[in-house]
Amino acid sequence: MEDTYRHKGMRRKLVNEIRKKGILDEEILGAIYRVPRHLFLDSGFLSYAYEDKPFPIGSGQTISQPYTVAFQTELLNAKSGMRILEIGTGSGYQACVLAALGVEVYSIERQKKLYEKACDFLPQLGFDIHLFYGDGYLGLPEQAPFDSILITAAAPEVTSCLFDQLKTGGVLVSPVGVGDIQTMFRYTKEKSGKISRKRFGNFRFVPLLKDKADD
Ligand code: SAH
Repeated sequence: MEDTYRHKGMRRKLVNEIRKKGILDEEILGAIYRVPRHLFLDSGFLSYAYEDKPFPIGSGQTISQPYTVAFQTELLNAKSGMRILEIGTGSGYQACVLAALGVEVYSIERQKKLYEKACDFLPQLGFDIHLFYGDGYLGLPEQAPFDSILITAAAPEVTSCLFDQLKTGGVLVSPVGVGDIQTMFRYTKEKSGKISRKRFGNFRFVPLLKDKADD
């Protein structure tokens, strides 16, 4: 579990690349710099760890592209002290970036292997994240309400039970769609209780699956 000057240098380059692509929030760029992404991949894949690309992590899933992680984090208005729910823990990379910002992170994963790996690995990295095994479609009603909610898999639609778990003024960020390419939306829960939404371009995510049974 080494994080050397070489790794830090590679991360600095990655941060510069993401900045050039339009992420200007220095807090978020600092969080990307602080999370050692190479430790989330098998050691043979070091050269891929600091490319701005998604990468397979096993169980048919991927670790998100760093730019996408930074972009979703920006849309969430994530700030230190907030309580944020993430749906789709996967490798835990996005959850760690939020935790590095000082967010209290709750994250749900439906694949037991990935959940168990995250339970073992994230504390070793020094990140204290509340991890849950279950179906993200249902959210975490017992822990609600959240300041914001992030879905890191493509949802065919956002279910109302997730909006119920959002504070007034809170936002939910999710790629929405059933095809290979989805549209990123940010939903805001207005004071009246009404949900408004705004679109933010096209992205490619693995699908959000119903039920927690492993495939
Ligand atoms: N945030 C991750 C990337 C997630 S990939 C990272 O930073 O690495 C999407 C993840 O969503 C996968 O791990 C997949 O197993 C999980 N997933 C799919 N459907 C789900 C559901 N209904 N509830 C919870 N997690 C789900």
